[in-house]
Amino acid sequence: MLKHEKAVVVFSGGQDSTTCLFWAKQTFKDVIAVTFNYGQRHSAEIEVAKEIAADLQVPHHVLDMGLLNQLAPSALTRSNIDIEIKEGELPSTFVEGRNLLFLSFAAILGKQAGARHIVTGVCETDFSGYPDCRDSFVKSLNVTLNLSMDHEFVIHTPLMWLDKKETWKLADELGAFDYVRERTLTCYNGLKGSGCGECPACTLRQNGLDQYIEEKGGSVQ
Ligand SMILES: [Zn+2]
Repeated sequence: MLKHEKAVVVFSGGQDSTTCLFWAKQTFKDVIAVTFNYGQRHSAEIEVAKEIAADLQVPHHVLDMGLLNQLAPSALTRSNIDIEIKEGELPSTFVEGRNLLFLSFAAILGKQAGARHIVTGVCETDFSGYPDCRDSFVKSLNVTLNLSMDHEFVIHTPLMWLDKKETWKLADELGAFDYVRERTLTCYNGLKGSGCGECPACTLRQNGLDQYIEEKGGSVQ
């Protein structure tokens, strides 16, 4: 049934949302992507998202979310805040309200574009402690969006219960392993592909990749 429907993918150009974009292309008849520009630490992210969307022939909207930068100082929105993870605290990369706002704006855009499906790469498993990546939050927001716009949105979270190894596996099953490995940008230091190799995002991505390659018996190089 979904093969006849249209979806909007919340898309950052990273490993997770690019895997979701491939998943959505396989799942839905029509797919559009939306990227939010909130003055990310690295504007390279927006450029990578544009490149991938164009390459995959997905109509792409880049929306200005500068307000979020003004309101929510974080290591992702301020170059003078270091990326740190302290025991018992949210990481300094947490941007307050980000997924609440992104999913809400994606829904508004989706309704206008005739799409009731919204796809996001949020994930509870490799949990950084971000409260708005939790399944309970997404389900709650889904109800709120439907009530607020009198529309039957369905928020899809294909990665919600996958760890990073399983996300690589999904990319592989979608025929997108090399593409995701080479073309996406996950690194907090703005480097594409395997990235800087040192920041928390690179470490998580690389560990999952190593585990997946090992599981495959080293056959993926
Ligand atoms: Zn990095």
